[in-house]
Amino acid sequence: MTTARPAPDAVDPEAVESELQRVGRELAAAFPSSSRQPLRAFDARAMELATGDQELRAALFRFVDVVPACRSLDDLAHHLTGFLGEVGETPPPLAAAMRISHTRAGRAALGAAAAGGVRHLAHRFIVGESPQSALPTFRRLWNGGVASSVDLLGEATVTQSEADRYAARCNDAIAVLSRATAGWPTRPRLEADGSGPVPRANVCAKVSALTPLLAPEAPRRGQDDAARRMRPLLRAAHEAGAHLHIDMESLDSREAVLDLVLELLSEDEFAAGPSSGLVLQAYLRDSPDQTERIVAWARQRSAAAPPLTVRLVKGAYWDHELVQARQHGWEVPVFEDKADCDRNFEALSRRLLDAGSSLRVAIGSHNLRSVAHAIAYNRVSGGEDVDLELQVLRGLGDDLAHALAARGFRVRAYCPVGDLVAGMAYLVRRLLENTSNESFLSAQAQGASVQELLAAP
Ligand SMILES: Cc1cc2nc3c(=O)[nH]c(=O)nc-3n(C[C@H](O)[C@H](O)[C@H](O)COP(=O)(O)OP(=O)(O)OC[C@H]3O[C@@H](n4cnc5c(N)ncnc54)[C@H](O)[C@@H]3O)c2cc1C
Repeated sequence: MTTARPAPDAVDPEAVESELQRVGRELAAAFPSSSRQPLRAFDARAMELATGDQELRAALFRFVDVVPACRSLDDLAHHLTGFLGEVGETPPPLAAAMRISHTRAGRAALGAAAAGGVRHLAHRFIVGESPQSALPTFRRLWNGGVASSVDLLGEATVTQSEADRYAARCNDAIAVLSRATAGWPTRPRLEADGSGPVPRANVCAKVSALTPLLAPEAPRRGQDDAARRMRPLLRAAHEAGAHLHIDMESLDSREAVLDLVLELLSEDEFAAGPSSGLVLQAYLRDSPDQTERIVAWARQRSAAAPPLTVRLVKGAYWDHELVQARQHGWEVPVFEDKADCDRNFEALSRRLLDAGSSLRVAIGSHNLRSVAHAIAYNRVSGGEDVDLELQVLRGLGDDLAHALAARGFRVRAYCPVGDLVAGMAYLVRRLLENTSNESFLSAQAQGASVQELLAAP
């Protein structure tokens, strides 16, 4: 079990900062050299082009959005040249590509190249069309010391039959993963912590995909509809010894999702499990209140259940929340200064770790400082490394995952599975994140020093 921690006030912030700097430098030194991965370097160039030019960035995002709806290569090239035509000054390689689009053969060639580019980019983030087809990737990760979490792509369903199909895919993922992972070699670091066994099979689901009825003005209807699909999933996860994690989406569904998960897990049937979890978004100004609510809930939960896993992230819908609030004249619910968001992330990491063994803490970030801070605080406040999970997104956090695994930390890669159409919203969010000027990954790609990357926000 987790050792008793000192009172939060008794933890010396200077000791945490100095441990953070040490851990951060060790991890940075364990990053694989990107020069050995030419394809990744190529993606980085493409991302760099898009980061530098806001108009081009917007045009490329609009293009990525329409790709799945295109019927032919001609159609793809038509859209690409249409979007790029709106950009004031097109970079020379793209201007040359557009010149060939005046003939049918040229358009077909351009369309094929564009479709290939999007597919290549998508495959960096999306590991397979189905859990079954992605098994070799999960096994490779496991062999390399990295656990995985399967995210079934698909969000905001509009019909009951779509929601039924999504629930069936989640159910299938639980079955396929539990069967396959049973035969994997033992990896003690990945499958147990101070609270007990950590399931090998780990599946993430989105509530908006489990019901078409989720609406902020009438949350109960959506919650009841989602609950009738979530209960069988919780049962299946319990029987199979798998973990079920509920992702968090935009703010308009946050209350409904949080209420639903805590209500369902409070039902007698789930008093002894399964292992389950939810997500806390640190970019929300009211996230400290949500944290207190979750900590209080976890403390009073029956000791027969595995501790609730809380994945702390900054939040993937920052642009959406900002634009929506400004459009409606609402108070902006997210921090507008990146440093405020980062400081809140560190404060919430400490709060969750201070909650002790009633929670399992998972830090979902690619930011070396945010990750090193959680590791350092956990150590300085008396915790064991094994009681902290570090999570990354496949395709964005691969190098960090490698470095963490090499240093013996418990690390999990979040791996989206599904087809390209279902993956478009996911892909666009990852592109937005990767090419935003304020993102840690952009700073890293632009060659910021370790000292800069580890500087206090
Ligand atoms: C395993 C995993 C699972 C995830 N699951 C979810 C999920 O369920 N729901 C979800 O919403 N997100 C999820 N995310 C995405 C996550 O919220 C972040 O978008 C992403 O990880 C980038 O944050 P970072 O710490 O890696 O990078 P950083 O570069 O340090 O932070 C980028 C983030 O900072 C915030 N930000 C950017 N600009 C500003 C600004 N001007 N002011 C204030 N804040 C700003 C945004 O949240 C942005 O995403 C997940 C991430 C991981 C790794």
